[in-house]
Amino acid sequence: MHRFRLSTRERCELVDITQRVQEVVQRAGVAEGVCHVFVPHTTAAVIINENADPSVCEDILSSLRRLVPADAPYSHGEGNSDAHVKAAVIGASRTVFIAGGRLALGTWQGIFFCEFDGPRDREVWVEIRR
Ligand code: ZN
Repeated sequence: MHRFRLSTRERCELVDITQRVQEVVQRAGVAEGVCHVFVPHTTAAVIINENADPSVCEDILSSLRRLVPADAPYSHGEGNSDAHVKAAVIGASRTVFIAGGRLALGTWQGIFFCEFDGPRDREVWVEIRR
């Protein structure tokens, strides 16, 4: 398994990690296979969506804020319940095919680390299988 670290800057943000995952795939030297991307956190997630127009990321974050407000009544006492719920809704992992030694993403797709309780130091775990 491969790991890399990143530091987030905002409470909520999407960080494009496509290139960093691509580098892991290229170093692994696997031509055809699958790439699993996993986030080992309870207030972060991973998503695949458009990386061409940054306003798409803004719309995803603003929609999540409306769906899961920070100030709703919650039981968890840490004050970050909305972050846990957002992470649960999005999910901690994604799988991407590898073709020709590269991630087989659609033209407009990128892989984003989703921070919901930053800023924090975070990790991404990547497993590649033939
Ligand atoms: Zn918590």
